Amino acid sequence: MVVTVDGPAGSGKSTIARRVATRLGFTYLDTGAMYRAVTLAALEKGVPLGDGPELGRLASRLQLRLDDAGPAPSGESQSRVFLGPRDVSLEVRSPEVTAAVSEVSAHAAVRSAMTELQRRLAGRGQTVMEGRDTGTVVWPEAEVKVFLTASPEERARRRLLQLKARGLTAEQEQVKREMLRRDAWDSGREVAPLRKAEDAVEIDTSHLTIEQVVERVVVLVKEAKAKGGAV
Ligand code: C5P
Repeated sequence: MVVTVDGPAGSGKSTIARRVATRLGFTYLDTGAMYRAVTLAALEKGVPLGDGPELGRLASRLQLRLDDAGPAPSGESQSRVFLGPRDVSLEVRSPEVTAAVSEVSAHAAVRSAMTELQRRLAGRGQTVMEGRDTGTVVWPEAEVKVFLTASPEERARRRLLQLKARGLTAEQEQVKREMLRRDAWDSGREVAPLRKAEDAVEIDTSHLTIEQVVERVVVLVKEAKAKGGAV
């Protein structure tokens, strides 16, 4: 069984997807971390962000490994990310990578390399995957699809708290502007744009606790299992 969790930045995807995976004993797959790793490699190698073919080559050769055995060093719910032997969990969440990732992930060649890898990883067993296109493109046959939303103010507030927890300072208005800019890239791109799958259940998390959202998703999974006859 595969559960997909999509939505814009700050809608609660990582926190919810990881907790649902833990509750159900499923593997958690953070697809955003993969696009962040390609972006980090591109910035380090000086590949121009507009060079789709070169970024695609870089993406398909990347020695990328995700480890979701425990929380990342940032103390958040994201996976540990490795490029070769290097633990780049903190680097992939830097403001520089965050500012560049949407441009890199808009290239078709980058997306096809990452989508292939994501399908391979999710094909190994029961998985909760989260991102922007997991329910529409990566795994459209998922048994449970969730689309999370929240107001821009709430999403910016959450992002600010995450940054503060990592010792970074920022203005809420600036965080909101940056987030909306990223949403515009992610929703406006031609290939696999951020959008709700027709059969996804939309949950507005603005006024819900994490536990309430997790519970709703777990109920959806139980219902899907009952319908499918699986245990
Ligand atoms: O989820 P996170 O904020 O870490 O994602 C970082 C970026 O990676 C997104 O803003 C988007 O540009 C890209 N992404 C994507 N498709 C996914 C997951 C993430 O394009 N499935």
